[in-house]
Amino acid sequence: MKTNRPSRRALPTALAAAAVMGSLATAVFSAAPVREQSRFARARSEPSAGTERAGSVGAPAPDPSRELARLRAEEAGAHPPAARVDSRRLAEIGAAYLARGDTSQAIELLSEAVARDEQNGVALAQLTLAYLRNGDVEFAEFYLRQARQLAAGSQPEPEIYVALGYVYEAQGRTDDAIVAWEEALRAGAKDPRLAVRLESARREWGVRHGQSFLAGETFSAFYDPAVPREVVEDTLRYLDRCRLEQDEFFGADLGRMPAALLYQGKRYFALTDSPEWVGAIYDGRIHVPVPPDAAESEGYRALLSHELAHAFITELSRGRAPGWLQEGIAEYLEGRRISVADAALSLAVLPLESTADLSAAFSQRNDWERARAAYRLALFCVQELIADYGPRAAACIVRGLAGGASLETVIQRETGRSLEALEAGWRARLRPSAKGPAWRPGDSEPRPDSR
Ligand SMILES: [Zn+2]
Repeated sequence: MKTNRPSRRALPTALAAAAVMGSLATAVFSAAPVREQSRFARARSEPSAGTERAGSVGAPAPDPSRELARLRAEEAGAHPPAARVDSRRLAEIGAAYLARGDTSQAIELLSEAVARDEQNGVALAQLTLAYLRNGDVEFAEFYLRQARQLAAGSQPEPEIYVALGYVYEAQGRTDDAIVAWEEALRAGAKDPRLAVRLESARREWGVRHGQSFLAGETFSAFYDPAVPREVVEDTLRYLDRCRLEQDEFFGADLGRMPAALLYQGKRYFALTDSPEWVGAIYDGRIHVPVPPDAAESEGYRALLSHELAHAFITELSRGRAPGWLQEGIAEYLEGRRISVADAALSLAVLPLESTADLSAAFSQRNDWERARAAYRLALFCVQELIADYGPRAAACIVRGLAGGASLETVIQRETGRSLEALEAGWRARLRPSAKGPAWRPGDSEPRPDSR
């Protein structure tokens, strides 16, 4: 192990954020990313967590499919629209799909709009946004650069910088997120949540300034001066061991390991907008409060395993794993198990109508009983999934989401059964008297190969 201070760049608040963004985009690639056809043929996917945060809230936009059909008919007709007109209309339709959360369709149409007219700044800006919503930050940065070069004097919409900031934040690039959000405010962003978020990012930056740094074999840690050095070293060693176990569970190497931020007490958590019962946070880095008895605390180690699991799941699914799968697997990997009888008690608080209901219970912040029931039931569902189909199936579901396929599609592929059928099976096991004996794989249907 070696100790060194991280290079701390001064916050570039005084710089023209535009210049910073430009150099940043340049640094990310030396050449244009390769455009594969498959990227544009992705299956429809649920909006990711990042989309929910970055997206606008409101009624769904009207269905643009009729307008698209009309345009396609005109294109095939005797008098097809001129390329620039076609590009403008494609961009409008693409933007409408984006507003409805259909990013893959939006990307396809907006790419077509740019191909028809490379000077279509609206299409470039919308395409940037679509890639951000899809989690493809490199493509987004590429098209943002194109848009900026094109629109000399006119800046891309503030929404792009807002979304870019969220992506950077999720990657742990707090300083870049701050720059992006400041640019968004300068460009006229109106979302009141943005100022709160920016303030929180700046405060977090400040908190980190007071911390020491220790680099381990694969993990590194920022830690409060009050946290004993031995505890930090022990934490890094423990994370290394956990990583090997989780590499094996997920059948994948995470590559770059997230940094761990170790706090004396819960002051960091008071700065965030997380509910007070949240014990730790993974947001591209692992934030954990260190208890006084950390050296012997099983709970502390469980917390580290749990948050590392979130890192694996988030990275391997590209942020597309729903809450119940995230929490269920994280609970499972920290070593928790739950009996049918105990899980069934939670039904009084949260009837397991669907796993989506569990996911919703994690994102609310007022009802601890409800959140706790959701954790227990999510663990139960994942435990049953693993008991029936093996740990490899759970890992394959997580990884299968990365390509943009829906949870339903991936589950069907890995288990041979629909998500609805699995949910019904789990419910039946918790309420055997109400639903009769629970179905188990192998009872009547063939057990599918989970590879
Ligand atoms: Zn968790």
